[in-house]
Amino acid sequence: MTLKVYNTLTRTKEEFVSLEPGKVKMYVCGPTVYDYIHIGNARPAIVFDVVRRHLKSLGYEVKYVVNFTDVDDKLIKRAEQQGTTVPELAEKFIEAYREDMEALGIVDIINPRVTENMPEIISFIAGLVDKGMAYEKGGDVYFRTTRFDDYGKLSHQNLEELQFGIRVEVDERKENPQDFVLWKAAKPGEIYWSSPWGDGRPGWHIECSAMAEKYLGETIDIHGGGQDLQFPHHECELAQSEALHGKMFAKYWLHNGYLNINNEKMSKSLGNGLNVRELRTKTKPETIRYFMLTTHYRSPLNFNDETIAQAEGSLERIYNCLSNLAYRSKDAAEGEADEEVSRAVERIGAFFVQKMNDDFNTPDAITAVFDLVSEANRYLQKETVTQATIGLIQNQLKAMNEVLGIIAEQEEELLDEEIDRLIEERTEARKAKNWARADEIRDLLTEQGILLEDTPQGIRWRRK
Ligand SMILES: [Zn+2]
Repeated sequence: MTLKVYNTLTRTKEEFVSLEPGKVKMYVCGPTVYDYIHIGNARPAIVFDVVRRHLKSLGYEVKYVVNFTDVDDKLIKRAEQQGTTVPELAEKFIEAYREDMEALGIVDIINPRVTENMPEIISFIAGLVDKGMAYEKGGDVYFRTTRFDDYGKLSHQNLEELQFGIRVEVDERKENPQDFVLWKAAKPGEIYWSSPWGDGRPGWHIECSAMAEKYLGETIDIHGGGQDLQFPHHECELAQSEALHGKMFAKYWLHNGYLNINNEKMSKSLGNGLNVRELRTKTKPETIRYFMLTTHYRSPLNFNDETIAQAEGSLERIYNCLSNLAYRSKDAAEGEADEEVSRAVERIGAFFVQKMNDDFNTPDAITAVFDLVSEANRYLQKETVTQATIGLIQNQLKAMNEVLGIIAEQEEELLDEEIDRLIEERTEARKAKNWARADEIRDLLTEQGILLEDTPQGIRWRRK
């Protein structure tokens, strides 16, 4: 089974072959840290985390870089409005971003900042100027698009189409309207860095080219981001990197689709720019992940209360199954694993990998998770179950969850122990005829959504 990925550059699904055997270098454009991240930003974060997890499960060592844009027009404006400095504002939202990512189970990322890579960015621009691929005008530096024959190859547009698409602005500093800025001269009072072209700061596109090179090398395996970044951002990154190095910048370009809120394209002006921090107060991070993964990453995704409620309901079925497996494993018999279940687990596991290998088809991969849940529920109906069979099912669920990250495992295990302890205490209280304490515990558990059932084998519990 080989991994196939849809490459925006070739507009085909291609077999994934890493540049270096066993290693993957991946770069995804990160947030501009002037505010909390909104739910739209969480989509690429979750999608590419699953890409990273799947590659890891296939045995690749993945080096994954997501940059922080910690200086730009939006930061300068916001800092001024809030009476703070750009570095202070950036620090606050970088911290918030890290908290959001950690909560969403997104780890193992290298997060370089623009302001900490200024020498590399400046020398990248200087290299382009030396090659005649860029020019300085009044303290600004622009990329000379007419010198780069492949300009437009990622977004599949030619120069005439691009010129047609650009609003004709009178900008006498540019040789051509489609030329884009690499270095911006500082306006009075703005934060700046010194450069061969005077005081200023880098344009947005150049930071990604420079940081991808510094942290991953001149050619990388995967470049990812939202579909809205294809043009101009990624087109410009590609032009800068390939113009300077004379070699391919990224082998595979992956883009995730839009996220709509109540079927409307998300925008701050519409007031539907829901932020992740706010959402986390009422929705579990695993539910957010699950919701994002029920749609293929390249398709548009609609967010509303209903889709989140559906995600919650579906996840509950998985949690119930896990609880039941844990419960039955306590009195499970020794002996061989059930043959029929073993075959089903194997078939479902293979189906899962096959679907993930097909351009990260998470909706179908989730179907595999539910096939296993059904299989487990069927098996648990039996009077006698074996530890070996339960173990097989649990391990398979765990392996799938390592890729998807939709079940909070540790938290669940801790909670289970707590419930077991309370039930035991209640049994003791009843034995001691301490009815008040026994009732107290039952109420406490009910409050937590735990239902107790008296069975011939003793008290068992399940989640509501
Ligand atoms: Zn970028």
